[in-house]
Amino acid sequence: MQELKDRILKDGQVRPGNVLKVDSFLNHQMDVELLDHIGAEFYRLYKDAGINKILTIEASGIGIACLVATHFHVPMVFAKKAKSINIDGDVYHSKVHSFTYGKDYDITVSQKFLNKGDRVLLIDDFMANGKAMNGLIDVCEQAGAEIVGIGICIEKGFQPGGEDLRKRGFRVESLAIVENMTDDSLTFRE
Ligand code: 5GP
Repeated sequence: MQELKDRILKDGQVRPGNVLKVDSFLNHQMDVELLDHIGAEFYRLYKDAGINKILTIEASGIGIACLVATHFHVPMVFAKKAKSINIDGDVYHSKVHSFTYGKDYDITVSQKFLNKGDRVLLIDDFMANGKAMNGLIDVCEQAGAEIVGIGICIEKGFQPGGEDLRKRGFRVESLAIVENMTDDSLTFRE
């Protein structure tokens, strides 16, 4: 998606540890018009897939997934990171290793909101090693929900997550795939 690539080149910052900072427009301060265009692009890609639910992970996926859900006119569910006493009833849960914080955390989704027969599109801001997506896949498998596709805003193509998931047969659509990044240059996969 050219608009996203242009914005990454304009406002993204490469940080040590293979971290791309895009917090001025994607995951802290949010350019909601850009998010809306991202939502439209995922709709264009997946509109014929019979999706009835969008699933993401707290926190940075939420804003993006909301705008995606408005295009599909379906509910958006996010996996919660903290165990909450507010969730009544049973939950699915999984463990995820955080790329940005370097430690494991639990995710939970109420069994009320993810069911057998759901056709789910998984959404996130970044894909690095694929741990966040694997947590969401685990939760969908527990629910008997079908994963119709995975939609990622920025995939770091030099890290293995995207390739691993494609090899496992998942449809992964990334709007920008970073091939290589250093302090002073960033290139995309064509
Ligand atoms: P993975 O689970 O694929 O290893 O990493 C994806 C998750 O880590 C995303 O949910 C995202 O929040 C975070 N993440 C991974 N790489 C980056 C990055 O380069 N920049 C930012 N801002 N977040 C990242």
